[in-house]
Amino acid sequence: NDFLLLGVEIPRYVRVNTLKTTVEDVIDYLKREGFSYQGKANQLGDLCSLSGKTFMNDLHLRDLLVFSAKMDFHNHYLYKAGHIILQDKASCLPAYLLDPPVGGHVIDACAAPGNKTSHLAAIMKNKGKLFAFDIDTKRLSTMSTLLLRAGVTCHQLANEDFLKVDPLSPAYKDVTHILLDPSCTGSGMVCLHDGNPEEQEQDPERLKALAGFQLRCLNHSLKFPKLQHLVYSTCSVHCQENEEVVSACLEKNSDFRLVHLLPEWPERGCDPLIQCLRASTTKTFTHGFFVAMLERQATPNTESF
Ligand code: SAM
Repeated sequence: NDFLLLGVEIPRYVRVNTLKTTVEDVIDYLKREGFSYQGKANQLGDLCSLSGKTFMNDLHLRDLLVFSAKMDFHNHYLYKAGHIILQDKASCLPAYLLDPPVGGHVIDACAAPGNKTSHLAAIMKNKGKLFAFDIDTKRLSTMSTLLLRAGVTCHQLANEDFLKVDPLSPAYKDVTHILLDPSCTGSGMVCLHDGNPEEQEQDPERLKALAGFQLRCLNHSLKFPKLQHLVYSTCSVHCQENEEVVSACLEKNSDFRLVHLLPEWPERGCDPLIQCLRASTTKTFTHGFFVAMLERQATPNTESF
């Protein structure tokens, strides 16, 4: 089940779980198994040059290793032991960009099956509090298994509708960072269909309903009183679920602004939201994805005048 689209194959990305091991130890382990390490990629095109048992370090994300599209680690010891997480590069961007502090209080609003939660926990070095919500019981039980295997201990899982979580509850009074990765059409996921994601048939009613839900989640997130940074992401290619949701939210929340993400990243949000990132099979060699980061603007200190 290689991800093949219009002649472009997506490399296999492997995130090293730094809660259990180090990038250096994983590289050494693989070298002993006959893999050939090529060093760090210099340019995006390098990621598509891999074949056989060659691999390299990604050029943007330090903890990410890149393999040829044909490689499959599902039965590998390092995966079964939770030392590596099989996660597309684009889906590693939200936690990497949110970059919550060690010991901080963080919410993962729509968390299951938990790949981004385990990434957040790794960045937080398992210290602090990571509140993870999901409405789907079955997905949450998969998530518990995944987090256990990954050695995550700083989390509190809740089977709750995020929209019903009270932002003013004392439990969340120190939450400064939120990752919001809500349900979306999934139109960026190459494996779901054979055609170009942008040419897929779309159900306008479903798209409208999802965009409405995403905007409600985003507006709700900004009500947490100490919130400083929020990352919003989808695996959709549709503007209605991405730039339009973010623009509508910012119109209502003038105390937040967009952060200009990774200036060197080649694919930007649709004009005028060029501070945001997009990802695609053809430009970034990943699944289709969108990421925005909002930050609370400093309140002007009127007393000093
Ligand atoms: N962030 C996850 C990861 O990286 O593994 C993927 C999240 S998936 C795109 C969206 C999730 O939102 C689904 O698991 C779905 O059950 C959950 N969800 C949908 N509506 C929700 C709600 N009202 N409150 C909390 N979670 C919700």
